[in-house]
Amino acid sequence: MKIIRTIKEMQKESRRLVAAGKRIGLVPTMGFLHDGHLSLIARARREADVVVTTIFVNPAQFAPHEDFAKYPRDEKGDIRKIARAGGTIVFIPKANAMYADGFQTYVNVEELSKPLEGTVRPGHFVGVATVVAKLFNITRPDVVVFGQKDFQQATILRRMTLDLDYPIKYIVAPTVRERDGLAMSSRNKYLDSTARREAVALIRALRTAKAMVRSGTVNSRTIQKEMRAVIKGTCPTANIDYIAFTDTATLSASPRVTKGVVCSLAVRVHGVRLIDNMKLL
Ligand code: AMP
Repeated sequence: MKIIRTIKEMQKESRRLVAAGKRIGLVPTMGFLHDGHLSLIARARREADVVVTTIFVNPAQFAPHEDFAKYPRDEKGDIRKIARAGGTIVFIPKANAMYADGFQTYVNVEELSKPLEGTVRPGHFVGVATVVAKLFNITRPDVVVFGQKDFQQATILRRMTLDLDYPIKYIVAPTVRERDGLAMSSRNKYLDSTARREAVALIRALRTAKAMVRSGTVNSRTIQKEMRAVIKGTCPTANIDYIAFTDTATLSASPRVTKGVVCSLAVRVHGVRLIDNMKLL
């Protein structure tokens, strides 16, 4: 497996692979990898001849008060896991190379960046879209794989891929979960034992929503009320940022659950902000 640390070298490698007719798969990550990330690499492996996994904790997508400095990092462990998952190239650029002095060009997917996470994390998706556009340009993928776990991000980046005419096959892979249903996330590391136990509040609420829809309740407000009760019953100190019912592609709010509606939520469990989502129909 190749480890590449400079943009120049990565560009050279991409050029060589394209010239050789190789199909390139891309899996962008911020590292501290878990089985969710590895499932994306395995999926990309099935779609492409080579898989470029990127590890980059992107400063542009963190607000000053967020966890950029303490975001968990384990480069050695990550490289080992990527190799085992079938990755062929790991690209680990430096922040001061990705954002060189004088940097001032940003990608803004305007409307889709406003609701949900956008209400709580203004500017976040400009950072995400900008870095992913740069990674597309540097690695020249034929196929890219993102996770359903970050549902709004997946919707925004799909729009960006279309709008900026990237000829890239766009795949969103299912959320990988712990045995008790908690969605895997690098940030789960922040949960102490009580918080970890109570973090099942999110999946419990989502499963309650799904069961309600199955038995005929489709009013979003009614479902949301019950979800709040489930969350408070599991984690009494939880702070709910939002519980939303939206169309997958447009992210517009759906007062009733119909086909394609996704329920997404963000909850602070003992101070750790967790997100999750589920298609309800
Ligand atoms: P991150 O390292 O958090 O930026 O995530 C990198 C990629 O992994 C994104 O496309 C995420 O949506 C995806 N991802 C994160 N957690 C999971 C999970 N539990 N299951 C599947 N994909 C995930």
